[in-house]
Amino acid sequence: MFQKESKDAGRVGTEEGMPRRRFLKTALGALALGPTLLFCNEPITPPREFKMQLDGYKGMAELPFVEVTADGKFKFTDTDLPMAIDFHAHLAFAVGQSPDVDLQQKTAKVAYIMDCDGARDPACVFNMDDYINKIATTKMIDHVDEEIARSGLTGGVDAKTHTVPNLLEEMALARVKKAVLLPIAVNLGFGRDDMAQQWKDAIEKSGKRDSFVLFGSVHPKPKEVHYKGKTAVELLRELHQAGYRGIKFHPTIQSIAPNDPSAMELFEECQKLGMMVFFHSGRAGIEAGNNGEYAKMEKYKEPLAKFKDIQFIFGHAGARDHSEALQLAKQHENVWLETHGQGVTSLRAIAKEFDNSRILFGTDWPWYPLVATMAKVRIAYDGNRPLLRKVFAENAERLLAMMKP
Ligand SMILES: [Zn+2]
Repeated sequence: MFQKESKDAGRVGTEEGMPRRRFLKTALGALALGPTLLFCNEPITPPREFKMQLDGYKGMAELPFVEVTADGKFKFTDTDLPMAIDFHAHLAFAVGQSPDVDLQQKTAKVAYIMDCDGARDPACVFNMDDYINKIATTKMIDHVDEEIARSGLTGGVDAKTHTVPNLLEEMALARVKKAVLLPIAVNLGFGRDDMAQQWKDAIEKSGKRDSFVLFGSVHPKPKEVHYKGKTAVELLRELHQAGYRGIKFHPTIQSIAPNDPSAMELFEECQKLGMMVFFHSGRAGIEAGNNGEYAKMEKYKEPLAKFKDIQFIFGHAGARDHSEALQLAKQHENVWLETHGQGVTSLRAIAKEFDNSRILFGTDWPWYPLVATMAKVRIAYDGNRPLLRKVFAENAERLLAMMKP
C-alpha cells in the first residue's frame, strides 16, 4: 500500500481507510512541507515482548533466535531468514606508524573494540533499545581511545583479532553471506594510509573474495606525504580504474564536513564515475574533541541536494542524530539508511516512516559482534517476515546490483 510521507500525515489510505476530509487535509499538509515521496510499505505489526536489558552480549542467549556456543561465540538461529548481507564491516586498522596486522591469522576469540562481556568492564549492560555505543562505560571509552591511538602508532592490540578468518567464522555462525568492507583514508600526515590496499590483499589471499565487497576511501585534501601531490579527484579515478565502485566518507575520523568545497568536488567526480558514497552519518557522541561537529546532519544537506545520481548511504542511520537523519533521508530517493547501532524503537520508526526497500543491515564489526545488531533488527521487525527479508538481504542485493561493473 502507499504511504505519503510528512511530519504529521501518518498513513494515507491505510487498510482502515481515511475520511475524505482528513485525507485532503493531510495531503495538503504534506504538500506544504515541501518535497514528499511516495513508496509502498507493508504495515508493521508490534513485536512480541522481549527482554531489552541484557547482561552483556552473552545475555543474548535469552533470546529465542540466538545461541551462545560453549566457547562464547554468537550464533543466529533463525534459519527461515535468508543469509544476510552486512553493509558495514571493517578489518583491522593499521595506519600511521602501525606495523602490519597479519590479516590471515585465526585467533581463539575476537576482541571487540566495544566489549560488553566483562573483559573491560563487568558492569556493562547491553540495552537493545539504546543507540549501541551508549552501553559504553567510562572504562570502555578509555579502552577505545587507547586502541585507536595504538592503531596509528605501535599497532592495535584488539586489531590482531580483526582478521579475515575471524570475520568469516563469525559470518558463518551469524548467517551472513557477504560483508561490505569500509576502509577509511585517515590522512594522518605521517607513515602509512593504505587501509584499502591492505584489506584488498587480505581478502584476495584468503580465497574467499566473493564473500566481500570492498569500498575505497579518498580524503578530500590528500597530504603530500601519503599521496605525492595527487589530487583527490585523481586518487578517486585511480580507485575506479582499480575496480572500486564506492567510497567510505567519515567526517569525524577524516576531520572534514561533507559540505566542505573539497568534499563536494570529490562527490562531483563520484557522480561522474557512477560511484556510491557511504557516509558515516550523524554524531556518535563519543568523538574526540569537537569532531562531532563535522557529522551534524545539516552538513549532509548540500551534497544530497546537488548530487541526485549518487546512491548515498547514511551509515548508522544518523547515529545519535537519527531523527534528523530520517527526516532528511525521506526527502531523497537516492538515500539509503544503514541501521547499525539504532535501538529497537528507532528501528521501528525507520520502518514506519521510510521506504522499506532502502533500509540496510550493518554491524560495524569488529566494534561489536555481528549478532548484536542482528538481534535488534530481528526483534524490531518481529512478525514482519517480508520486511526482515528486505532488510537482511534483498535491499542490499539491489543496491549492490547497482554498482556498475
Ligand atoms: Zn564503522
